[in-house]
Amino acid sequence: MRVGDRAPQQAADGAPVELLGLTRPEIAAALVAAGEVEKSARMRASQLWHWIYYRGSRDFAEMTTLSKELRERLATRFSVGRPVASKDLQSTDGTRKWLLKFADGEEAECVHIPEEDRGALCVSSQVGCTLTCKFCHTGTMKLVRNLNAAEIVGQVMLARDHLNEWPSPPDGRMLSNIVMMGMGEPLYNFDQVAKALKIVMDNEGIAISKRRITLSTAGVVPMIERCGAELGVNLAISLHAVRDDIRDVIVPINRKYPIRELMQACATYPGLSNARRITFEYVMLKGVNDTPADAKELVRLLKGVPAKVNLIPFNAWPGAPYECSSDEAIRKFSDIVFNAGYSSPVRTPRGRDIMAACGQLKSASVKRSKADILREQAAKEAAAAAALPA
Ligand code: SAH
Repeated sequence: MRVGDRAPQQAADGAPVELLGLTRPEIAAALVAAGEVEKSARMRASQLWHWIYYRGSRDFAEMTTLSKELRERLATRFSVGRPVASKDLQSTDGTRKWLLKFADGEEAECVHIPEEDRGALCVSSQVGCTLTCKFCHTGTMKLVRNLNAAEIVGQVMLARDHLNEWPSPPDGRMLSNIVMMGMGEPLYNFDQVAKALKIVMDNEGIAISKRRITLSTAGVVPMIERCGAELGVNLAISLHAVRDDIRDVIVPINRKYPIRELMQACATYPGLSNARRITFEYVMLKGVNDTPADAKELVRLLKGVPAKVNLIPFNAWPGAPYECSSDEAIRKFSDIVFNAGYSSPVRTPRGRDIMAACGQLKSASVKRSKADILREQAAKEAAAAAALPA
């Protein structure tokens, strides 16, 4: 254990300490706080790790490499939870979306996108998003809070429960890749995202390699270097426009970190090579960013950056202020980028029928005003009073 690995405190009401989302040293510290001798705490933490992240176990009673006495003691002080899936929707194309409810009642969504012999999980990093990108449904949400590491890694655990992939299969997994492309801006919640991804990458547990993880950002420039240095995961950039005047409007974080600074941070992303390129995501919006001139400017911008381009047909949502570009415009755009030497596939929309496609995620979490809360309380009291016998 290192100095500074503090044990998560048991709540005053005696509620169990959640082990999900803790680092190994934090688990060890929690065990010591629960009375385990310091000498064996590290080994016990590794054993627990194996049960939690390799076998997907939530029940201390089945953790048979630990003594019966210890298992019983653990069960009274700790828990291994999951977010609650309050909805589980399946698209006609196999895409599956879970609406997750966390302990405080707030909600976020998480999407599994299966392919023939593998699959990606699209993971959320926040409830809502502060970025207000004009074409993104999540950007219209009122409430925003960061998810913690347990809530982020919990999405992976829950998906694996549903896909029946415990213990961790070595190959042929349907949850083989992770994309941090759900609700929220992962680089505005970097510490918790990093903690969760380190757990996901750990070889003795879920063991999804950094090469199979992609973090997508709208361009939080000061955090990009750290993301590469500390996690080494693939980077995707939600570029969507090649001129600052347009990007300022559709991806407003551009006003803070303009295209030139963003491209500079990309060019120096740690670990970048022709074998490990940055993905530039580009949503095709009719009459906004989809001309051949835009495509040529994109090619110019990418010079010197090992890159691939992902063209995303705009996915509509109720009240969206844009339309998708025509097939013809998308094809022309793609040809220009491709002929300049960049891979430029058009992303097939998945799960549109269940509002699970890129940019369609939104949960009902809203910020309630004090007046709303008082009104709800009054209504509840009135209902309770009405239910009383006269
Ligand atoms: N905040 C991060 C993570 C979200 S990733 C980021 O911006 O990268 C979600 C991806 O879907 C982003 O590339 C986003 O720009 C894109 N997107 C948002 N709304 C969309 C829509 N309506 N249609 C298609 N793609 C959309």
